[in-house]
Amino acid sequence: MLSRLGLFSVFDMLWDVPRTYLNRSRVDQIENLSDGAVASIRGHIIATNSHRTRRGFHVFTAKIEDHTGIVTAVWFNQSFLSRQIRIGQDIFLIGRAKYGYGGLQMHPTEYDIISGQDNDRPVMPVYSLTEGLNQRQMRQIMLNVLQSCLPQYPEILSPALRERYQLCDISFALHNLHFPASRDAYQSARRRLAFEELLLFKLNLCLENPSSPDPKQSTEHIPRMDLVDRVTRNLPYALTGAQQKALREICADMAAPAHMNRLLQGDVGSGKTVVAALAMAQAVASGYQAAIMVPTEILAEQHFESLERIYQGTEVVVARLTGTTPAGERRSILAGVSNGDIHIMVGTHALIQTEVVFHKLGLAVIDEQHRFGVRQRSELGAKGLVPDMLVMTATPIPRTLALALYGNLNVSVIDQLPPGRLPIKTAFISSSARDQAYHFIHTELSKGAQAYVVCPLIEESEKQDLQAAISLHQELQGTFPDFQIGLLHGRMKPNEKEAVMTSFKRGSISILVTTTVIEVGVDSPNATLILVEHAERFGLSQLHQLRGRVGRGSQQSYCVLVGEANTEEAQLRLQAMEKSNDGFELANQDLKIRGPGDFWGIKQHGLNELRVANLLRDQQILTEAAEVAAEFGDQLLKDERIIDYINMRFRKDTIAMN
Ligand code: ADP
Ligand code: MG
Repeated sequence: MLSRLGLFSVFDMLWDVPRTYLNRSRVDQIENLSDGAVASIRGHIIATNSHRTRRGFHVFTAKIEDHTGIVTAVWFNQSFLSRQIRIGQDIFLIGRAKYGYGGLQMHPTEYDIISGQDNDRPVMPVYSLTEGLNQRQMRQIMLNVLQSCLPQYPEILSPALRERYQLCDISFALHNLHFPASRDAYQSARRRLAFEELLLFKLNLCLENPSSPDPKQSTEHIPRMDLVDRVTRNLPYALTGAQQKALREICADMAAPAHMNRLLQGDVGSGKTVVAALAMAQAVASGYQAAIMVPTEILAEQHFESLERIYQGTEVVVARLTGTTPAGERRSILAGVSNGDIHIMVGTHALIQTEVVFHKLGLAVIDEQHRFGVRQRSELGAKGLVPDMLVMTATPIPRTLALALYGNLNVSVIDQLPPGRLPIKTAFISSSARDQAYHFIHTELSKGAQAYVVCPLIEESEKQDLQAAISLHQELQGTFPDFQIGLLHGRMKPNEKEAVMTSFKRGSISILVTTTVIEVGVDSPNATLILVEHAERFGLSQLHQLRGRVGRGSQQSYCVLVGEANTEEAQLRLQAMEKSNDGFELANQDLKIRGPGDFWGIKQHGLNELRVANLLRDQQILTEAAEVAAEFGDQLLKDERIIDYINMRFRKDTIAMN
């Protein structure tokens, strides 16, 4: 039963944080219950009843009496309760009071059968349960584990460190996490455990990304020609103030002898590509090569084209390398990179293959960094002497988190969109209203607009998802007979993808039916409409990225999200999209709705494994833990127990996969 809850060891048990706590010392009297208010009561069960309604609901009721009155507690569709809640027991429960047909009722959110033995504990943990296991049994198991195993639990922090950061010892902490003796004891337990998690999390990152480059070895970019200015003058637009500022910061870092490790953050459509292109010009002008790595082939192609355009009329040679570059072309590119004939390389993961040897790589750029793992990033960084690193992202990351994740990282922000952009209008509709949406799209297409229609595609159901996209393509051809409809998905051959993308950019395709291959980076400013099917299946960051495919020109753009908000979380997500166009605000929303990790695509680091620590609330603790990791990391990582501990906490997947 415990394994169904993901609990396989004593260790897992100890870190099975209670879902909530019941404080039985605060009790309301039944005569004081008021309609609609949440209350806690304690009483004696004098009757129970179990029945089915005409509509098929199962209803379980229990009449509860205290010395002031009687109330009926009502549970829906929890038939197993008749085996747990019985006449004669004492019960504590929390719920909303309500006057209904049967008089005063209560709809419990939590309940607890009181037994003689735990009468003296005012605060009781409430754990997630599974069928066949009740709260009382779970607590008993936990007490057993605490009593028999806590003495052997490793204390990884020395008394001196505990003193310095005011942390209680581990066994006090774990005990009070489960059975808090007081509010203060709980608070200090929580602080200690959050600290421990964040420290281990940080040590795990050190294991994944061991060598930070020797600052003495790094590259100094001193330009020998005015390439940056020349290229800037050739642009069809003026850089925004925010772009100029970011570029100045990057170029100053590059010129300095110290190694650059900079994050360029700017919302979708803010114009990061051109800033990267100019930073690469700075590298080339200084006699170095530059490389930019992107997560998809489509994006590699697009960046390649725009870099070629930007460098037109200069001596800069740009090449692209992906997993599907034909063998002959690949050979000559590899030769050109290693002898220095090629100045700028654009590519996918193909760039980090061992055969790719640079002549003199001075700047490595990673676009859409959240799509890459720590290891892939550092592999590109290991290609040059010690190239300066620029990582770019549209998804904002709080500074403390960035620091904790990437070490000493500087951040440039493009907090301004190019002039003339109108906020995208977003509507969330149910699929029954799709015809109206089509009607609207038809009107817009007639005026010359272009649209994306996006279908979800996830690995688990890839075949059906792909089929859905293909059928939708056919269907739309029927719905919009006077327009060209294109289809683009990841399973197509590279030259097919390129052909479709090119006709869409040229305007000969009006609607592009596609999967999430266009999620990041794709830039086609004439597209002003995006309709997302099954929007409820996408996370907030994905929706924001997808929406960022439109609103890239001066035209009014629209985003239509079609779907059914079948959970409260989906409802919140889709409403957030309607309300805001701001990536930073959405990231914070997402953090509130779902916790950390998803928005920043940093699942792979084990952030979602955090059980006690909360990155919004515990930024101060994170900073302290990072301090300890920096100062004592080497020493701590020599301890076998700590390595085991890290593996158990953060590398379950790795262990399972191996
Ligand atoms: P992202 O930051 O999402 O990667 P891109 O670099 O793809 O954004 O730029 C989005 C669009 O804005 C592109 O079409 C680009 O040519 C255009 N753009 C970038 N900078 C400017 C600017 N200063 N003025 C006008 N348009 C710009
Ligand atoms: Mg981009």
